[in-house]
Amino acid sequence: MSTARFETTMDYAHHRADMRIVCQCGRTINVPFADVLKLFGGLPQAITRLKCKRCFKRGEVKVSPVPTVRR
Ligand SMILES: [Zn+2]
Repeated sequence: MSTARFETTMDYAHHRADMRIVCQCGRTINVPFADVLKLFGGLPQAITRLKCKRCFKRGEVKVSPVPTVRR
């Protein structure tokens, strides 16, 4: 895992890192880096406004990069 900082959606695209979104209820979603920009554009705020499909809470998510295995 590199020490690169992942603050914006652009960072995920740049590093080709999938995004892992974990809700406080435990629901985990992995978003392929190719879809990160499509889903959220350049706005990291859009991620924290996500509404969980299980507990229906908003803004209770933690976002972190998923280490990718290069093929
Ligand atoms: Zn949830």
